[in-house]
Amino acid sequence: MRLRADLHTHTVYSDGHGTPLENVLAAEERGLETVALTDHGPASPDGLTDRSFRRLVAEAREAEKLCSVRVYVGVEANIVSISGEIDATPAMLSESDIVLAAIHNPRLILANPGSAEELRRAIVHATIRCIESGEVHIIAHPVWILEQLRCYITAQEAEEIARVAADHNVGLELNARHLPRDFTLYQVAIRVGAPITFGSDAHAPEEVGRFKPLQKLARRLGIEPQDVHPEELGIV
Ligand SMILES: [Zn+2]
Ligand SMILES: [Zn+2]
Repeated sequence: MRLRADLHTHTVYSDGHGTPLENVLAAEERGLETVALTDHGPASPDGLTDRSFRRLVAEAREAEKLCSVRVYVGVEANIVSISGEIDATPAMLSESDIVLAAIHNPRLILANPGSAEELRRAIVHATIRCIESGEVHIIAHPVWILEQLRCYITAQEAEEIARVAADHNVGLELNARHLPRDFTLYQVAIRVGAPITFGSDAHAPEEVGRFKPLQKLARRLGIEPQDVHPEELGIV
């Protein structure tokens, strides 16, 4: 099955190179039906401000009028505390169609970890609390930061994250830019029925809808890559 929804792209309003319109036109050209414009939250370098977010939303709405693609606009928020809080402002949350959350800076979760294990537990805890908060639709690249730190979640932790994601109907993303090396979380997600979403994490228009590596990976996981329609995650 061909994926037709790219639920994670960046524009010039954070560290992407394309305008909202350029991303949307690229999505249309690639035959996508749906694209999400999800720039980085305020805690990221080049992250959104309330002011730039308003411009992103306005340009996204204009772009949608010019194309046949359904456009969702939102933010890839940073998880900024061990209790799973995110950095999207109230204005961003109220105007967003879609909210992704990710850990990019583990120091925000635990400034002085005593051990790799302590940091891993903190990251898992923050991820779970973020899912439970009801503020986010998708956890972007949920194991990437752990893999960067060379620590892998245990089967038990994968089970906890996937079950909470299933209970709260929050997507666990397969991300084309940060391909996971360890599939444990996704294997458990498939077993317990947590949604798995697909995102290119495009930082340039030509990367929008670039799913080839993800399709291969999905097959290795034994699943047919399948769009999760935003409505299925409660996104309207
Ligand atoms: Zn990210
Ligand atoms: Zn991203």
